[in-house]
Amino acid sequence: MPTTTSNLSPAQPISISPDWKVQLSQAVTSIDELLSCLDLAPEQLSTSQQAASAFSLKVPRPFIDRMQSGNPRDPLLLQVLPVTDEMQQSPDYNKDPLEESKHNPIAGIVHKYANRLLLVISPACAINCRYCFRRHFPYDENRQSKQQWQTALDYIRQDKSINEVIYSGGDPLAANDNFLAWLTTEIAEISHIKRLRIHTRLPVVIPARIDQSFLNWATATRLKPIVVLHINHANEIDAEVASAIQKLTDAGMQVLNQSVLLREINDNAMALAELSERLFDCGVSPYYLHLCDPVAGAQHFDLDDSVAKQIYGELQCLLPGFLVPKLVREIPNRQSKTLVI
Ligand code: SF4
Repeated sequence: MPTTTSNLSPAQPISISPDWKVQLSQAVTSIDELLSCLDLAPEQLSTSQQAASAFSLKVPRPFIDRMQSGNPRDPLLLQVLPVTDEMQQSPDYNKDPLEESKHNPIAGIVHKYANRLLLVISPACAINCRYCFRRHFPYDENRQSKQQWQTALDYIRQDKSINEVIYSGGDPLAANDNFLAWLTTEIAEISHIKRLRIHTRLPVVIPARIDQSFLNWATATRLKPIVVLHINHANEIDAEVASAIQKLTDAGMQVLNQSVLLREINDNAMALAELSERLFDCGVSPYYLHLCDPVAGAQHFDLDDSVAKQIYGELQCLLPGFLVPKLVREIPNRQSKTLVI
């Protein structure tokens, strides 16, 4: 059961730099250090160094500080801890569950939907989520210099059907602001692009990322910026996250949230309702609730469709319609997400 209330105390906070880049560089990358921060003994969890070698552990301190010390089932901890379940193999779970390799026409671009296109801005994330559908993505093949980005810009210029560019990754906000400001200015000069969507988890895991430097470039052009956050559990939102979100909304950005339905983390209607309420309090609209993508290493997070539909039905009874995210699944080679209900 996800833990939304508990007598356990939060992890002991340590003093952290106000600079987001320093916080990023100081992310915890070892299982032992993470467990030690939370006063947990290794025998309380089925951790796996092998899983950590296949997909490294990475979690910034502000996110750890929202975990409950002494709770081995903490819903934030379970999202980031490498465990033996990840080593299960099943033919139904693979390294490219959305077949994105078929839609990667040139380095840095994933073009799988009509009228919009994803730019793989950064190969890095501030946090490594164990259920990530891009945990095996060939980022090295999509890494490019500023000069090579001109090729991606030419691709966008030539396809006049594209009206929206989505900054994705990795986490696009792991890139530096000088580069992002340059790229955004170039895109704004392409007359058929109307909107810029930024899909990011960085404001959640390191709220200091939303600083004046970010706000300057994100609001400097004629493009309408939309920020899509990724938050799975209400415990991820503390006062610092709420303050970062407020900076986004004060700057006139629309802020949406997408979640993934995850076993033992948010797989009950009460936890999801609490998340939607908290998001709304912060000025964020719940957008999508994704079913887990069948990515190798994440099958233990997955739920049967019948269970997902049952939870979703209960959620609909707890909330007004505008707080209920759409329950969706991504089916490879379709032009949009597919509604499950
Ligand atoms: S932040 Fe997003 S892209 Fe990065 S590991 Fe988590 S889910 Fe994947």
